[in-house]
Amino acid sequence: MESRTEDLLKERMSKIKHKVAVLSGKGGVGKSTFTANLALVLSVRGHRVGILDADLHGPSIPKLLGMRGKRMEGEAPVEGPAGVRVVSLDFLLPDDSTPLIWRGPIKAVAIRQLLEKIEWGELDLLLIDLPPGTGDEPLSVMQELPEMDGVLILTSPSELSALVVGRAVGFAKKMGVRILGIAENLSSFTCPRCGETVRIFGEGGGRKMAGEFGVPFLGEVPLDPHLSEDSDRGEPFVLKRPGAPAARAFLELAGRLEQELGLKKP
Ligand code: ADP
Repeated sequence: MESRTEDLLKERMSKIKHKVAVLSGKGGVGKSTFTANLALVLSVRGHRVGILDADLHGPSIPKLLGMRGKRMEGEAPVEGPAGVRVVSLDFLLPDDSTPLIWRGPIKAVAIRQLLEKIEWGELDLLLIDLPPGTGDEPLSVMQELPEMDGVLILTSPSELSALVVGRAVGFAKKMGVRILGIAENLSSFTCPRCGETVRIFGEGGGRKMAGEFGVPFLGEVPLDPHLSEDSDRGEPFVLKRPGAPAARAFLELAGRLEQELGLKKP
């Protein structure tokens, strides 16, 4: 017989049509920035979107979306820009100087609680922002959500060693989770003065990787200093600058993800 908490988790998760975890082989590829902006674009396209900030040691989604200082009331997520519903440990920690010193088993419990105790309501898509690598949190999320749609692997050209992306791909395969695709961040930079586009970190690595691993390539997001500046100020880039090439890149990526998921445009 299943326990009551098992039932609760199932019941709550059953109201979320699609669940996607965003994974990267290593840190600094812009995963949180990417997840936040992708969620905003999907929300603007009419989907009901939530973000679970599962980066327990460095929760950064609230800062990126200008939601710092907000607190969670009861079991409800906090509503952010464009109506994106966010759950993050940042809404629960008493202050910035409180460090989280948790070992594996406690992290697993925390992830489970975040999944089970939250009344997300009806969602079309939940994006789960995982910490970099393939440690405790990704493992817990995959174990708790066997019905997850899949993972999106984010990479940047500079970290495109077969080893790092390969590890993320291998992890997903071992967990029996579908790889929805590989996306690449920081792909190119267009000089604001002369207009020339430079591939600072090399060319086409994400696409090549996707080909090698036989998974879809979902698209690439260029480097845009505004994206970094806006994020630091907590101003949602894609809402503020919808015409910027990086914002359009998110839009295209969102379209491809919709296709992969069979997510119907409302
Ligand atoms: P991760 O979650 O992978 O550790 P972050 O999302 O924290 O990475 O991003 C790392 C830094 O890179 C941040 O300062 C962020 O603003 C910046 N950044 C991410 N993507 C871009 C981009 N496409 N253009 C410019 N800056 C970016």
